[in-house]
Amino acid sequence: MPTTTPPETLGRVADFLRPHRVAAVGIACFGPIDLDRRSPTFGWITTTPKPGWARVDVVGAFRALGVPVVFDTDVNGAALGEHRWGAGRDVDPFVYLTVGTGIGGGAIVNGRPLHGLVHPEMGHVPIPRDPADSFAGACPYHGGCLEGLASAVALRARWGTAPEALPAARYLALGIAAIAAVLSPRRIALGGGVMGAAGLLERVRRDVADTLAGYVRAPELVAPALGERAGVLGAVALAQLPLAGGVQ
Ligand code: ZN
Repeated sequence: MPTTTPPETLGRVADFLRPHRVAAVGIACFGPIDLDRRSPTFGWITTTPKPGWARVDVVGAFRALGVPVVFDTDVNGAALGEHRWGAGRDVDPFVYLTVGTGIGGGAIVNGRPLHGLVHPEMGHVPIPRDPADSFAGACPYHGGCLEGLASAVALRARWGTAPEALPAARYLALGIAAIAAVLSPRRIALGGGVMGAAGLLERVRRDVADTLAGYVRAPELVAPALGERAGVLGAVALAQLPLAGGVQ
């Protein structure tokens, strides 16, 4: 269904689900979102530049269904979907990183999506700048964070409508090296439109190995297996968490 205003869009989704007598609802939502169950704004989208969608109570729109509602980031959902059915089966810790309009990452640690004070924001790690690079960066919050330097929006701002993706490999490798240093994932699936560029995955693999410089093993870098369906299958996997007896 089309995305219009929050009440109309979420209302349509709830109306669609109501007659189906669902057992649980899984929501893999763009963020940042509030995942702290003790917070008065649990289940909300908090800060987003998307017009009209900041401070929106997403979970609240589904409470009247009277079933468990599992709420997480779109990328934690995709990570869980790939972990359950795709490129991350039997791999833990596992990271899913999408490089598209924005850059976001989700992590599965001990079989569950990783939450923290908020949730991981892997696209916003600060990146050491190539001294020869004068591009200011496209992130409205940080300028030259990973998303600000290597997302599709950043590449278009730098090179126009037919952006080149290969020069982003070095910055992607620096971001992935930071993720590897902190979380030590065994495998990272790299999805999103930018990663479809020919030769980019191979170049990133090589640059990650160069950046880690043999100090520790590099995580395996692979393409996702679920493609466009990672998001929706991720939401299904989220909905299955309480049904499997786990706590959300
Ligand atoms: Zn940023």
